[in-house]
Amino acid sequence: MQNDTIQDIVDLCITINQRAMNIYRMLLTAETNDELKQFWTEMASEEKSHQEFWKVAKELAQAKKLHHVFDDPLVIKEELTQILDKVKTLSRLWKTTQSMENALILAYRLEYDMLHPAFELLYHTLKPLIEKFDSENMYDQHINRFIQMFVKFGNMTPALELLGETLENLWKRNKTLTRLVMTDSLTGLLTRRGFFVLAKEIAYLAQRKRENMGLLMIDIDKFKTINDTHGHPKGDEVLKGVAHSLKSRVRKSDIVGRFGGEEFIILFPTIQPTALSRIAESVREGVESLRPADIPVTISIGVYQGLMGDDPDEEIFSWIAKADECLYQAKTNGRNCIVFST
Ligand code: GH3
Ligand code: MG
Ligand code: MG
Repeated sequence: MQNDTIQDIVDLCITINQRAMNIYRMLLTAETNDELKQFWTEMASEEKSHQEFWKVAKELAQAKKLHHVFDDPLVIKEELTQILDKVKTLSRLWKTTQSMENALILAYRLEYDMLHPAFELLYHTLKPLIEKFDSENMYDQHINRFIQMFVKFGNMTPALELLGETLENLWKRNKTLTRLVMTDSLTGLLTRRGFFVLAKEIAYLAQRKRENMGLLMIDIDKFKTINDTHGHPKGDEVLKGVAHSLKSRVRKSDIVGRFGGEEFIILFPTIQPTALSRIAESVREGVESLRPADIPVTISIGVYQGLMGDDPDEEIFSWIAKADECLYQAKTNGRNCIVFST
């Protein structure tokens, strides 16, 4: 049931995208100003290139891999349906009055409607899954190009100018909200929630491809003492340094999150069993040699790896529990060491 809703959401996004492309083509046909002609052509072709992205998104939705992205898919579906209705009326409006000012207003309403957080959340979430598209950046460029043009031609009237600024602010706020949910502001790593959104999708992929996955639970040793000795702000610097060090020792496609206070988690979507022990050691050694904020810091690591079973949704939690047991063992063994699950 829920997955049908996700597929409906992606279908709605696809239809809205298709409509947007048609609207830009329609504006192009009526345009006489050369610069704007060029602009409408670019906007239409960008909407067309977004279709590629949506095609892959649809495949992922059909393969039931996107069901953790939205808190309340039914509400999103409802809102997107309303947006589609609005977009449909836009082309009708154009038929009644055609002018440069109206073309800009129409395009504005289109882009404004497409600022729905569902789009941004999908772009953000799918970025690591669809490596050939930098989906977030792709939309960023599109909206920025639109805003620049709007500000340039929009200064025809103060009202248009104001609209341009509003759109820019909305876009920025939208992005910030998505980041706040998914990214930890101190370290720049994924939040626990952001981690789970991605980890679950990746667990499904790994399960289908029968790929060996690895999980590291990491905890800074005696971090309370670091705070007590050097103060909380230095503690924060250490957290940032450790986060940076963790990222630098893994691939871009590996998922690194801040799981809680001074605890981190790394998921390796595909990894050779023998490679994992080497990488875990490199991660441990990386922090030890870094001395963030000039303070000696060490971490303990618990490692679990294997093949995902039938229910990745649930299993990811038991993987975390098993890696956590190993982490506890590493602490008992004297810290600054790694324990692998057997
Ligand atoms: P162990 O080696 O057993 O893990 O000892 P520990 O001191 O690291 O563990 P403990 O759980 O006792 O302490 C964790 C500390 O992390 C306590 C908490 O105040 C601190 N902490 C959690 N979040 C932050 C943060 O965002 N900034 C700073 N500076 N400290 C934090
Ligand atoms: Mg600790
Ligand atoms: Mg801890």
